Amino acid sequence: MDFEDAPAEAAYRQQVRDFLDTHSAELEHGDGEYLADPRLDDIEALRRTQALLHDHGYVGVTWPKEYGGQGGTPIQQAIVNQELARASVSGLVNHVGVGMCGPTVLTHGSEEQKARMPRLLRADDIWCQLFSEPGAGSDLAALRTTAVRQEDGAWRVNGQKVWTTFAQHAAYGILLARTDPASAKHRGLTMFVVDMRAPGVTVVPLRQMNGASEFNEVFLDDVVIPDSERLGAVNDGWRVALTTLMNERLAVGGGGTELGVRAEPLVRHAAARLPNLSAAAQVLARQALGRVLVESLATRYTGYRRLTVIARGDTPGPEASAGKLSAVRAARAGADLGVRLLGEEAVYARTLDGDWRWAVAQASVPGIAIAGGTDEILRNILGERILGLPPEPRVESKQVLAVKGEQS
Ligand SMILES: Cc1cc2nc3c(=O)[nH]c(=O)nc-3n(C[C@H](O)[C@H](O)[C@H](O)COP(=O)(O)OP(=O)(O)OC[C@H]3O[C@@H](n4cnc5c(N)ncnc54)[C@H](O)[C@@H]3O)c2cc1C
Repeated sequence: MDFEDAPAEAAYRQQVRDFLDTHSAELEHGDGEYLADPRLDDIEALRRTQALLHDHGYVGVTWPKEYGGQGGTPIQQAIVNQELARASVSGLVNHVGVGMCGPTVLTHGSEEQKARMPRLLRADDIWCQLFSEPGAGSDLAALRTTAVRQEDGAWRVNGQKVWTTFAQHAAYGILLARTDPASAKHRGLTMFVVDMRAPGVTVVPLRQMNGASEFNEVFLDDVVIPDSERLGAVNDGWRVALTTLMNERLAVGGGGTELGVRAEPLVRHAAARLPNLSAAAQVLARQALGRVLVESLATRYTGYRRLTVIARGDTPGPEASAGKLSAVRAARAGADLGVRLLGEEAVYARTLDGDWRWAVAQASVPGIAIAGGTDEILRNILGERILGLPPEPRVESKQVLAVKGEQS
């Protein structure tokens, strides 16, 4: 891939830069260097930022025009991502909606469901993803929330979800539930769109160690979902969920940007503080800085690789996993170094102008390493699909074994 902008791309980039310069005062600027934005409490300001970006054509760039997008190219979307990161504009508050729920609705939804997409893109409606449960994360198909069809055709849902990002602000969620407990575990699942204000939906925010309340427990007690809110066919929910998960890995893995690990602020931070360290500590800090830069470059070039695949009209596979792994490594090494350079100040750093983000970033990295596929799961994918190692032993349910028994 040629890393230089073609003339049309350079013109588009300039257009995005001009917009960001002109509207800088109206946009929220966050800790663009890291994924977690500690100012999540100011949701309304973040909604206004997303609406302004959307109104000028910079959210859902590749989405069809009839559903609120621009009908643009993946390269244009990557340029927007890069320029937003460069300008340290806060991440999209409805990133779960735009990155995961929306693409799933566009692929599998009814026209009525798709008609909600412009409001999703503007963050007028925030969406959430109700997949993980206390006993089902990496092994998502083990989920136990049930949806039982009633005589009138509607579905009655009972169960508990957890880790549900922004459920406390969400108007809608996409919900994966078990509709046929007798089938093999991947087969008896169905996807629904759930109205988060429906009776029986209880959202309990969880407080994270970085100080934010980003995700929630969601309890579903006799929640009634009309059949018109089913997303895809009955018992075909695993296929629908794969659309979501594929988009999640792409969204979490960035789009040709260094994703949360912009090295420049760290270099500035280090340059200002290295002279305060002993000679020996300076050597160690320089080595650590080198490691961060290497991981940042690995993330950037893996991003370009993924972008090349997308630009050719294909779907990236393990590139997305590799990109997320190096992004997490760079974020972890960068946050650790930033805190080490501050020393004990990092604990109280919120009061020190401009430096508080290192402690917050350090406390956010473990979450980033889990969301969208844990490091171990991603390494399994790379081991099997890139290195050709023997597959992990997989524990199969009694139903799968029974089905296999019937077939043999
Ligand atoms: C910040 C954040 C936001 C999130 N947002 C959402 C959301 O909006 N919606 C949603 O549905 N979920 C969300 N999640 C949940 C996330 O998808 C799960 O946490 C993740 O899939 C891991 O599942 P688990 O927590 O159940 O851990 P487990 O799957 O129980 O894993 C526990 C440990 O075992 C390891 N492990 C598990 N299986 C294997 C294996 N086969 N080989 C090797 N090691 C293994 C894991 O790597 C991990 O270290 C979010 C999580 C975080 C941290």
